Amino acid sequence: QFPFGRRLPCDIYWHGVSFHDNDIFSGQVNKFPGMTEMVRKITLSRAVRTMQDLFPLEYNFYPRSWILPEEFPLFVTEVRMMKDSDPSWKPTFIVKPDGGCQGEGIYLIKDPSDIRLTGSIQSRPAVVQEYICKPLLVDKLKFDIRLYVLLKSLEPLEIYIAKDGLSRFCTEPYQEPTLKNLHQVFMHLTNYSLNIHSGNFIHSDNVNTGSKRTFSSILCRLSSRGADVKKLWSDIISLVIKTIIALTPELKVYYQSDIPAGKPGPTCFQILGFDILLMKNLKPMLLEVNANPSMRIEHEQELSPGVFENVPSPVDEEVKVAVIRDTLRLVDPQKKKRKDVHLSCHTYLLIFPTQFQSLHAPITSMKDKQHKHHSLKLSLKLKFYLKLGSCQTLERVSEANEELLEAGRADGREYDSPRSPEAGLPSLCLKQVFPKYAKQFNYLRLVDRVAALFIRFLGVKGTTKLGPTGFRTFIRNCKLSSSNFSMASVDILYIDITRRWNSMGIDHKESGMCLQAFVEAFFCLAQKKYKSLPLHEQVASLIDFCEYHLAALDEKRLVCGRG
Ligand code: ADP
Repeated sequence: QFPFGRRLPCDIYWHGVSFHDNDIFSGQVNKFPGMTEMVRKITLSRAVRTMQDLFPLEYNFYPRSWILPEEFPLFVTEVRMMKDSDPSWKPTFIVKPDGGCQGEGIYLIKDPSDIRLTGSIQSRPAVVQEYICKPLLVDKLKFDIRLYVLLKSLEPLEIYIAKDGLSRFCTEPYQEPTLKNLHQVFMHLTNYSLNIHSGNFIHSDNVNTGSKRTFSSILCRLSSRGADVKKLWSDIISLVIKTIIALTPELKVYYQSDIPAGKPGPTCFQILGFDILLMKNLKPMLLEVNANPSMRIEHEQELSPGVFENVPSPVDEEVKVAVIRDTLRLVDPQKKKRKDVHLSCHTYLLIFPTQFQSLHAPITSMKDKQHKHHSLKLSLKLKFYLKLGSCQTLERVSEANEELLEAGRADGREYDSPRSPEAGLPSLCLKQVFPKYAKQFNYLRLVDRVAALFIRFLGVKGTTKLGPTGFRTFIRNCKLSSSNFSMASVDILYIDITRRWNSMGIDHKESGMCLQAFVEAFFCLAQKKYKSLPLHEQVASLIDFCEYHLAALDEKRLVCGRG
């Protein structure tokens, strides 16, 4: 650990909280610039809402949300309208302070008038959200899922999901919200940090019982009740990919600002914690994304009143060790260097699971034959050693290898050939979902393309906001002004939207137009130009139009340059 920083270059930098060191010029950092800001409740809600405007059906996994205080009047009006159109609708809302965590400051209300808009803590910016009243219950308790997701790269987009996660349980039997039980946090909030203080919290060494269990144990239970677990997984994968697609445009703006293209800098990866709630009908709903999920594998136990001790938590260990191990395997800086190196006895011994795996590999050459023979001998030896150590480990190793083989067969890209040394490190849990399923989701990446236009016109490296000149150049180069949309109207559009976004007080460090404001302006332009189409088609058409004109301009400049 280097609490005061380290000047010698490293292969991997493991930062505790966020990307904060602009003096790193190589290697890989475990945080993306801007991620902490992006997953705050307000920013996440905004990013998802932009996608909901474009693709309402695809993004219906996030509860309807309003941003306080600025959208309070809108919240009141919309709720009144919905109640008028459906008098049987008796909603509950959950108010969550922006930047809060561990359930802090959260409360439930039945009516917009119950919002506490005064007082120091209450006047904090917050998100108010429709409360999901009918969650799936297990043992009569509400629970949520913490899933670990590795964002391995932003460009190209690479996403991995851990195939097991944690289920965190409430400690009081669930009842649908009524005025009487609204305040019972142990019934409505699944946060571990809250429920641990309830007298009913059950620490268990068994992954199938207690107040914190593995997600796989829940899946087993659901499957035995006849639930379609495959469909549930595919819905979860889709939720994760879509959420990351909503976050990537702004992340790219932060990225180019902290790590400008063309200059030496590190690459980034990040483990994210997705909090997901299952509804009674098994539909997964996104609650929030954590940029810095706890990787603790111990929990605190109160030995006597006020005396706490850290004790190992097998459930956390089972899930989290696998996530970190797979992450390190995937970002292994030696991976590329080793690609051409032949297997050696030395390698076998270093990476023992290779033995089990190589036994399954088809023999294709004399060298392979020798290698297999050698593997067999070593494998027997290792089996013996492992038996001495732990039977469970051996089981896990072979299980993981079986899976690796299966994955390797299905997806040669991720796991290379079974004979390469890095293939010896089995995937314990992380499964690639993007680009694997890119074809199904690429049509959603419209705002990414808008962000690429925005970044092109930012001009000065290191900024995240577009000045009025940049905006004018964008309009001119993309040939968007016309007789009924003069440059004076362009300036008015810029000033109007920029002023409104800046008055929301998100980022006062720089003046100018932020990406979200640019996206709003872009949608306006698209609606103006392609009136009768649905919004996503208007936006897609305008992007095509802009990209076409910019490509023509680049071509012209290239020719002129050559000339
Ligand atoms: P925090 O970051 O403070 O943990 P969350 O958004 O995760 O905030 O909310 C805390 C808990 O409240 C969640 O774990 C979940 O149990 C409950 N919760 C949050 N949003 C909703 C919702 N829309 N519907 C039902 N329960 C919710």
